[in-house]
Amino acid sequence: MSEKHGAIMHTGEQFPSPPRELEYLPVDPPPTGHARAVADGVLWARSPLPMEPTHINGWRVEDGDGWTLVDTGMALDPCREAWHALETQVLGSKPLRRIFVTHDHPDHMGLSPWLQRRHGAKVWMSKFAHESVSQFLAATPETIQGRMLGFLASHGMRIDDSRGQSSPMRHDTWFDGAPELDHAPADGDELSTTNRTWRVVETGGHCRGHLCLHDAAGGLLVSGDQVLPTISPNVSVISSRPEADPLREFLASIARLEQCGEDTIVLPSHGRPFRGLHRRLADLRAHHHEQLEELHAACSQPRTAFDLLPVMFGRPLRGFHRVLAMGEVVAHLNYLRATGRVERRQRDDGAFAFVVA
Ligand SMILES: [Zn+2]
Repeated sequence: MSEKHGAIMHTGEQFPSPPRELEYLPVDPPPTGHARAVADGVLWARSPLPMEPTHINGWRVEDGDGWTLVDTGMALDPCREAWHALETQVLGSKPLRRIFVTHDHPDHMGLSPWLQRRHGAKVWMSKFAHESVSQFLAATPETIQGRMLGFLASHGMRIDDSRGQSSPMRHDTWFDGAPELDHAPADGDELSTTNRTWRVVETGGHCRGHLCLHDAAGGLLVSGDQVLPTISPNVSVISSRPEADPLREFLASIARLEQCGEDTIVLPSHGRPFRGLHRRLADLRAHHHEQLEELHAACSQPRTAFDLLPVMFGRPLRGFHRVLAMGEVVAHLNYLRATGRVERRQRDDGAFAFVVA
């Protein structure tokens, strides 16, 4: 379970230069409460978020006499209001039959129990994501905070550094509880909607149990947070899995998604639909390898993840962004360690230092 569930899921890290050669669909983003068609039987709507990115995309896919919805928005009033407008102006008399959750972050699934009750819809999400969010919501804020501060201290960020910036917060307020799980699709499963067959592609690195949907014949990929057009998805080690190697999972997922056709239209959770999947994946891979090399060079002397923050993040970071950034640095260090390029030593003060092997 992760501190990521309760807060911002993206460090909002931008590439130094604008992403190259992505071809955006010539469809303007729909205003709140409206939807625009991006493909036959697939509508794009957005819900507002109280943070960067300031919106999340939701996809409404025609499904017989109803709709399949991908991702819901947060359990906040502005998201509910957007829904009321969509129900009258967009969905018509057709109910949601199914809610497909790409992953267990609150912007993607916060409203799922509310919509499940409201429409009698079935909720589909990965088994891991459902277990993960259920455990997270059952934990106390103090438990989560304690584990997170312990993790940060083990990487050289003293408790004082985070005092006042990450005091126990109500981690559950962006969720409407956990939905009842009706079906847990696994990698390779198929999902049928009107005139379309989607294959479930499980990806990793941003979070475990993240599911994409690929319609190979129709040339569509619903990418969740795995591939975004302008933001590098947050790839972090989290306090509940401090020894994990999410960057390895992320890079492996890039290789899997490269099997989708080059002409695929990508429907991301944040930002605009685009073509240019392979270029985007190549950029993401190159970006992480660049960061790995910079960190490796900086580890000529033993250094903690906290020492190394400025190497990966040139800009000043505040509050929770700093915590997520620490998770990203540790993700890259764990990868370097797993590939034998750095060693980890425990200092006298208990913190881990990393040095070139
Ligand atoms: Zn997201």
